[in-house]
Amino acid sequence: MNTSFQFCDDLGPEKVVEIYEPETGLRAIVVVDNTAAGPAIGGVRMAADVTATECFRLARAMTLKNAMAGLAHGGGKSVIVGDPGAAIETRETLVRAFARAIEPLVDYIPGPDMGTNETAMAWVRDVTGRSVGLPREVGGIPLDEIGATGYGLAAALEVAESFSDFRVDGARVVVQGFGSVGIHAARFLVERGGTLVGVSDSRGARAAPDGFDLAGLIETKRSGAGVAEHGEGDAIAAADLVDVECDVWIPAARPDVLTADNVERLRTRVIAQGANIPATAEAEKIMADRGVLVLPDFVANAGGVICAAVEYHGGTERLAMETIWEKIQGNVRAVLERAGERGELPREAALAIATERVRRAMSFRRST
Ligand code: NAD
Repeated sequence: MNTSFQFCDDLGPEKVVEIYEPETGLRAIVVVDNTAAGPAIGGVRMAADVTATECFRLARAMTLKNAMAGLAHGGGKSVIVGDPGAAIETRETLVRAFARAIEPLVDYIPGPDMGTNETAMAWVRDVTGRSVGLPREVGGIPLDEIGATGYGLAAALEVAESFSDFRVDGARVVVQGFGSVGIHAARFLVERGGTLVGVSDSRGARAAPDGFDLAGLIETKRSGAGVAEHGEGDAIAAADLVDVECDVWIPAARPDVLTADNVERLRTRVIAQGANIPATAEAEKIMADRGVLVLPDFVANAGGVICAAVEYHGGTERLAMETIWEKIQGNVRAVLERAGERGELPREAALAIATERVRRAMSFRRST
């Protein structure tokens, strides 16, 4: 039987809502996966081809990420079927219709995701009074502008120093996906003595063994050009970024970019997963066997949601950055210690810790 019940287990989901509104053409799905720790925070993804399966998987990932980060929030996610490149009026109509439909779902707090942004979250808040990832003018902390997730990756990598022969100072860094996460990860690592030696975006890739001038590369990117058009270093095929010798390789673009087919080519000590699910399970196993330390996505890339939670509770930008650093460092340490003690992969250790936290939060609930 192909129903949403196929995704149910002892953690959730608690609520699945499918929305269709003939007047606006809105088609959307909301999955509130688990609210034991508090109201679910999770992004609103807008794309023409979003699926229910994607929504269920992303909602569970948010439950685990928020539990791992120790936030007073459970996990959820929503998807709107729509073209993120459509005229702003069309998008505003859809997002406001979505907001009206979810108004009664008070245990779900929407945030930005692919295809939505802080302006969309301001529309949602205007209708429902609740959302995160807001513009500064309405009390938001612009998490992509300040580099919340890149900052968290730098925090995670500092902890990796105690578990491998990796050092941030002097590290050669490769970034796949020079966008919000990738640019700021590079920035925080270069500030700490790292050097960016390889980079890619959706239009191409470049390598510079002696290092890029990061400010110049960011300037090229902000001018609208791709990294391949930047003057320094050599243009390489995007698929060959895995061959660039480095100390840390940071996936910050798409899922499943490291697979059994290319992972053997990596010449790095550490993988810091900025993107969500950037490596297959098989690839992570091969990396572990080769002694490459993997910092799993939902532990290392939680900076954005930690920032969103601080914003929701009225905190400042400075508090958000301090909280990201403290939480991510504590969690990466807990995960790597457990993995070392039990001979588990870092992801297995992280899943066990996060699931245990969700179960414990559930145990505090009244049963009637
Ligand atoms: P973004 O759109 O700002 O940047 C993505 C970058 O990846 C762009 O430069 C794009 O050109 C590039 N890209 C796209 N396809 C590519 C490909 N095939 N090869 C190489 N580069 C490619 O997005 P972002 O906010 O930086 O998010 C990047 C990833 O990190 C996504 O998987 C996202 O889900 C995840 N993530 C983001 C945050 C956040 O705070 N923004 C938090 C956690 C996880």
